[in-house]
Amino acid sequence: MAGEPQSDCLFCKIVSGDVPATIVRESDTTVAFRDINPQAPTHVLVIPKVHYPDAASLAAAEPQIAADVLREAGTVATEDMVDGHGYRVVFNTGAGAGQTVFHAHAHVLGGRGLQWPPG
Ligand code: AMP
Ligand code: ZN
Repeated sequence: MAGEPQSDCLFCKIVSGDVPATIVRESDTTVAFRDINPQAPTHVLVIPKVHYPDAASLAAAEPQIAADVLREAGTVATEDMVDGHGYRVVFNTGAGAGQTVFHAHAHVLGGRGLQWPPG
């Protein structure tokens, strides 16, 4: 069923606690944890607890939870004190755009200069 945990999904396992992560925030609907291969001083992933393969499918099915992900991304930036200088929220969508984990997630990147456009 849509949104149900997937047994082969790494991020569902982080939600369930079966895979450890450095969790920085949790809400009723989301978990935020540090990326295992950080690309910036602040590199946090914010995920919905429900399983959808990407941000667009999450937003279509569960718009309030998509909003929760965005709110939590902003709070992570504030708590890591990268909001003053500026930070980036990225949803890689599709393998061609670099998505490797097909459970919706926002990357929160900050703490260094960020080029535009991204590569
Ligand atoms: P994406 O390439 O947009 O799908 O992002 C997936 C991200 O998950 C990458 O930045 C990985 O470094 C990160 N990642 C993979 N495994 C883990 C893990 N066990 N804990 C934290 N982050 C992870
Ligand atoms: Zn999942």
